[in-house]
Amino acid sequence: MRRKLVAGNWKMNGSLASLAELDGIGAALDPRIDVAIAVPATLIAPAAARAAFPIGAEDVHSADSGAHTGCISAAMAKEAGAAFSIVGHSERRQGQCESDADVKAKAEALRRHGMNAILCVGETLDEREAGRAVAVVTAQVRASLPEGAAGDWLAIAYEPIWAIGTGRTATVEDVEAMHGAIRATLVELLGAEPGAAVRLLYGGSVTADNAAALLHARDVDGALVGGASLTAAKFAPIIAAGA
Ligand code: PEP
Repeated sequence: MRRKLVAGNWKMNGSLASLAELDGIGAALDPRIDVAIAVPATLIAPAAARAAFPIGAEDVHSADSGAHTGCISAAMAKEAGAAFSIVGHSERRQGQCESDADVKAKAEALRRHGMNAILCVGETLDEREAGRAVAVVTAQVRASLPEGAAGDWLAIAYEPIWAIGTGRTATVEDVEAMHGAIRATLVELLGAEPGAAVRLLYGGSVTADNAAALLHARDVDGALVGGASLTAAKFAPIIAAGA
């Protein structure tokens, strides 16, 4: 039985003052579902000290240390208090030219350090309109799946790029079809039981209005939420919708 996970991604937003939102989110926790928030690297330590739920990084380098100016390693994020990290967010795949191999290595670095990973995959609008969405996304899953993927340390977030931050959400039918295809790929690669252990999250303009339908759709084990995770007022109803 997979527990639902509602995870937030603050992206390059937030300040020490906005950590007060974590108190409101903590007050909305529900024992039936897991809640986590990834914050900018500068906020990991104070957020982890304050929050009543796991705090994560938004990205980590695949190496443990070295000449990588501006990057942080999984070990550094862990020392700061991060329990997990997002890897392969489309804003990094596109903006920082990250490949599937990079994403795989980052997830493996997290596992080496006993941390959880939320690994993002998703197609562009052109790819969807060309009828290639399932092929593109399952190819990303195959190429970025880390060693030791089986288990609840790993969640895969299906985030259609055209739905991120746009207010446009995939239909429940499209999400169910894609999650079914991802699950079938995991079962093929890992075997039936291990392939069933990985949680599949949906991400892309999730709000209080659409969360219940998406979170209770077939094969959906949670959500990765950007904009609506920035305040307790917007995030708490999403947690409630998943419970
Ligand atoms: C995201 O950043 O992963 C995301 C899904 O953003 P938003 O919810 O704002 O679309």
